[in-house]
Amino acid sequence: MLAAEACFDALAKECQHDELTAYPEAFKASWLHEELHLSRNFKPWMAKGLKLGSLMFGIDQMVFGGKAPWTLHNTKPDHAKLKLAADTQPIIYPKPDGVLNFDRLSSVFLSSTNHEEDQPCHLQLKDAAIPISVNLAQYDAPEQRFCPAGVYEILRDENGSNPRLQINAQNCVHCKTCDIKDPSQNINWVVPQGGEGPTYPNM
Ligand code: SF4
Repeated sequence: MLAAEACFDALAKECQHDELTAYPEAFKASWLHEELHLSRNFKPWMAKGLKLGSLMFGIDQMVFGGKAPWTLHNTKPDHAKLKLAADTQPIIYPKPDGVLNFDRLSSVFLSSTNHEEDQPCHLQLKDAAIPISVNLAQYDAPEQRFCPAGVYEILRDENGSNPRLQINAQNCVHCKTCDIKDPSQNINWVVPQGGEGPTYPNM
């Protein structure tokens, strides 16, 4: 709403600037900023372990009421925190029950996402070889798992050879996780053709 109001005001005043400074200013003055600021240290503390995190965030909240004279920063980017496949064990998730939880493609269907089949692909690879030579070899192709819409698939020949990445861009729900989480930073999410993507008609 704050962004929409800032846009509306800028359009009404026929502003010629290409930066919408009114939006960050309005956000800083809002209740949302105040609420988020009070809990800003939660994630960085908890990243240091459950016991230390619980103790320190407890002090942060109970003693300082969220106004501690420090702000912890998360300096390592998310994509750099992915562990190698060799250092992890696969997680075996229970199958969706179809009542409270559902398979990924059923959920994608509910989003009503759509992209014209002949539009330029909005999921671009900087280097087409990296998904197999690096991501599959070292991380067991994590894009197959972190994409909530099943857009990325490793296909193989019938005998299991010749792995290759298939990008089902039409299913993308525009969460942008792949752009952020890809350990090789090889996926470039670009804005697709206007008016396309998820519409969530039942929300
Ligand atoms: S933006 Fe989200 S839904 Fe789209 S391909 Fe990337 S991870 Fe998948």
